Amino acid sequence: MIELTRRRDPHRPDRWKIYFGDVCVGDIGPRAGVPTTVDQWEWYCGFVPPARRGVDAGGTAIDLHDARKKFADAWQSLQTTFTDDDFAEYRYARAWTAWKERMWKDGRKLPTQTQNGRSRCFCGSEIDIRGMAAHVRAAHITESANV
Ligand SMILES: [Zn+2]
Repeated sequence: MIELTRRRDPHRPDRWKIYFGDVCVGDIGPRAGVPTTVDQWEWYCGFVPPARRGVDAGGTAIDLHDARKKFADAWQSLQTTFTDDDFAEYRYARAWTAWKERMWKDGRKLPTQTQNGRSRCFCGSEIDIRGMAAHVRAAHITESANV
């Protein structure tokens, strides 16, 4: 069984990203710029694509312990509604973004950016507009969150 783990948010070291395996399923952290008389913590449980259909939850909490408890309760009820397709689509979107960024970092154009609709992937494969998405799915989806 896959356990939830937490990692410091690289962009906000006072916050944590919550992972289910390689998929980021939410975060917990202190709220910014709120009065001291209100809840100082916030949490969010969800990821895209399920969040697009309203399958997510979030709110405020009085402290880290409270935020973790509220996140855990939300996870308990939401987890069963997340499908294998949700996780697959998340991984594809992550791979697609990483692939595009790698192409541009290497100075390569996407087939959609060339006159003839063709390009060469950094892995060496010839790709065209029609086959671009299939190529990323076949060759560049990983189970790592650090692609
Ligand atoms: Zn490739």
